[in-house]
Amino acid sequence: MNPHVVAIFGGAVSGAEASHQLSQRGIRSVVFEQNALPYGKIEDGLPKWHAKLRDKEEANIDAKLSDPHVTFVPLAKLGQNIEFQDVAKNWGFSAVFLATGAWRDRPLGIQGIDDYVGSGLYYQNPFMHWYNHFHEPGYQGGQKVLADGALVIGGGLASIDICKALMMETVQAALAGRGIHTNMFELERGIGKVLEAHGLTLTDLGLRGCTLVYRRRVRDMPLFPGDTDTPEKLAKAEAVREKVLLNAQAKFGFNVLPCHVPVDKIVEDGRLAGLVLRETSVENGKATEIPGSDKPILAPLVISSIGSVSEQLPGVPMKGYVFEVVDGQCCRLKGFENVFAVGNAVTGRGNIKESVEHGKSITGAIAEGYLTNPDGAVSDQFREKEDTVSANVAALSERIAKMKPPTDEQRQLIFEKVKSLQDAVGYGGDYKAWADAKRPVRLEQLLGLEAHG
Ligand SMILES: Cc1cc2nc3c(=O)[nH]c(=O)nc-3n(C[C@H](O)[C@H](O)[C@H](O)COP(=O)(O)OP(=O)(O)OC[C@H]3O[C@@H](n4cnc5c(N)ncnc54)[C@H](O)[C@@H]3O)c2cc1C
Repeated sequence: MNPHVVAIFGGAVSGAEASHQLSQRGIRSVVFEQNALPYGKIEDGLPKWHAKLRDKEEANIDAKLSDPHVTFVPLAKLGQNIEFQDVAKNWGFSAVFLATGAWRDRPLGIQGIDDYVGSGLYYQNPFMHWYNHFHEPGYQGGQKVLADGALVIGGGLASIDICKALMMETVQAALAGRGIHTNMFELERGIGKVLEAHGLTLTDLGLRGCTLVYRRRVRDMPLFPGDTDTPEKLAKAEAVREKVLLNAQAKFGFNVLPCHVPVDKIVEDGRLAGLVLRETSVENGKATEIPGSDKPILAPLVISSIGSVSEQLPGVPMKGYVFEVVDGQCCRLKGFENVFAVGNAVTGRGNIKESVEHGKSITGAIAEGYLTNPDGAVSDQFREKEDTVSANVAALSERIAKMKPPTDEQRQLIFEKVKSLQDAVGYGGDYKAWADAKRPVRLEQLLGLEAHG
């Protein structure tokens, strides 16, 4: 039997793929996951209208984590239930992989604005978590209050998802106020279609819609970049970005304010009541703020969607917002011989050349595909991540073979500690039974619909 045992923190797309790559090589892994379910961004970031895609991706993770080489430990958070230095140095694992993703919102960067989180300000990650789950009976995460006329700061696909969610929720509530009942799945096919069927417009409903504020031009938006290394490819990528945004606006009725950045907050009665926006000019893709162009914009709600970074884990070295890895060393964590970051836990796509090349070609295809098949395009993102992790772990497994495996005694101790962590949360070792029991009720089930996607 292969003597190596690898610890993996995070059981989602990257962690599950890492475990799968190890299983295929006969290497055992222990997957520690902070949540009850290991689905990460698929469960809490991918908006719930992608129901079919979510189910497919989660089944993919289930299959990998059900492998007999894998031991799953739910509700075990690195930095909380398990101390990083201890697991990295004392437990005796051959290697430790950090596949913990990117769950911390990049801060908005306006002094004191975070005091208003929950009072006029939300950040994307908790917002999307709430959006995906608030329909669940007994949802414990606290309710969020939405309002028409919100400002969404962003520019990437995730910020468009926020605008979509806001528009659908505000329209659904306004229609309900007139006794017209619809649901997210109907609205997701296009708000205009639903309104038209009732002979209504947004104005009739007294709605002005939310506004996406972006620091550069629409054609610069990071809506799947595509190759841009020749003027022709750049022009094509820019045209695709403009079309993607126009399509989304046409379907969901939100507004866009390009070439503006938030520079200050407006506070009224102890709540965030808007932002001071400054105009920018864009040259060679770079936005320069224009002095004297500030304008106060009142808004009942601001949602910041300007990217996610690694959560800071006690004892894990950071460089800026990301884990500090050693160049050219398969994302080895600085100061640790046997700890590696994989997936979204590192910036870029790792430093495996082939996967970068592969990633580029997929990204090009995504840009094309997003117009016709958004679900397929999002799914390609997951495949891209898996490919990167797969190449990463393939390279790492050669290193692991040369590493010191745990002794028999250490191995026994590892699995004793693992068992006591599992026992503490009532996990009996049957992954499938656990996942089936913990999977929350879905909106489509409550509505009596088949899974949509
Ligand atoms: C809205 C949205 C935006 C996206 N943006 C990007 C993007 O910017 N770039 C990109 O490449 N792909 C993006 N994707 C694609 C996709 O999310 C990722 O490529 C992929 O899901 C990342 O998988 P992951 O396993 O690395 O991270 P995640 O899906 O974030 O999984 C990390 C897992 O680790 C667990 N975890 C976290 N901290 C701990 C801890 N301390 N202890 C134990 N477990 C822990 C989490 O609970 C989670 O299950 C996005 C997808 C969506 C839906």
